[in-house]
Amino acid sequence: MNICVCIKQVPASSNVKINPDTGTLVRDGNNTKMNPYDLYAIELALKIKEMKESNVKALTMGPPAATSILEEAIWMGCDDGYLLTDRKFAGADVVATAYTISQGIKYMGKFDLVVCGKQTTDGDTAQVGAELAHFLGIPYVCYVDQVLEVKENSIVVRCNLDKTYETLEVEFPCLITVEKSNDTPRLPSYKRSVQYSDHQMHTITFSKLFDTDESRYGLKGSPTQVERMFNPIKDDRKVMLDDEVDSYAKQLKDILKDRKYI
Ligand SMILES: Cc1cc2nc3c(=O)[nH]c(=O)nc-3n(C[C@H](O)[C@H](O)[C@H](O)COP(=O)(O)OP(=O)(O)OC[C@H]3O[C@@H](n4cnc5c(N)ncnc54)[C@H](O)[C@@H]3O)c2cc1C
Repeated sequence: MNICVCIKQVPASSNVKINPDTGTLVRDGNNTKMNPYDLYAIELALKIKEMKESNVKALTMGPPAATSILEEAIWMGCDDGYLLTDRKFAGADVVATAYTISQGIKYMGKFDLVVCGKQTTDGDTAQVGAELAHFLGIPYVCYVDQVLEVKENSIVVRCNLDKTYETLEVEFPCLITVEKSNDTPRLPSYKRSVQYSDHQMHTITFSKLFDTDESRYGLKGSPTQVERMFNPIKDDRKVMLDDEVDSYAKQLKDILKDRKYI
């Protein structure tokens, strides 16, 4: 079976800074890590490999520095790593990101299963998985925390819906997004880091993609426009409404209006 795990490099600190002039995130290339949910995605893919012979490829879209998370993926047990990188991909919103990743996966060859994390700790939209499945034209299951069975043409998974579990069977090729589970992701192995010390990652640039229509990528391919980014202002002033019940609604409306919520 051919499995592709999508992983993303994110800031290691929750203290994310915003450039006040450009309104963009200040990404400190040295202080990064693999998105925590993607560790669970890799763990789940490797569990599937233990259940049925598979080739697990890790894919990331990002700057060349993101190669470090591909190395980590290989040290954990993935077979190969692919870096989707090109200046033309810069400024991508979720739609353009998902489209670019879909093109990268098509470039990588035949696949049966795509595994993503549930969401990231920086962009945090949890939309890439669903949009990627859309662009690949395959079914999609979210919040998977366990693989119960791998059959010849399908997979049986358990989805954690917070207060309940759902068991679903989905045919290959398909995409799943992975929720945190009790299966703690395995640590990168020192033995594998030595064994794969000379391993060269594959680089996928714009010119290698099947679709080279520039309007689908980067800023040009992004329908979302960010008007402004700012840190939310902390406001924990408390107001007690101790007047007549009948006037509560008006008081509340005035406060919300005053604070520009409505
Ligand atoms: C208008 C706009 C402009 C933007 N410009 C930039 C920019 O210039 N530079 C920039 O770095 N970001 C930019 N972003 C953020 C970028 O769009 C997101 O980082 C990207 O869409 C991923 O979304 P997310 O982090 O919410 O992923 P989620 O949907 O929360 O992630 C779900 C899963 O998808 C997979 N995934 C997500 N991203 C990647 C990836 N890159 N590679 C592989 N797998 C992935 C992972 O498995 C992850 O667990 C911009 C966003 C907007 C809206």
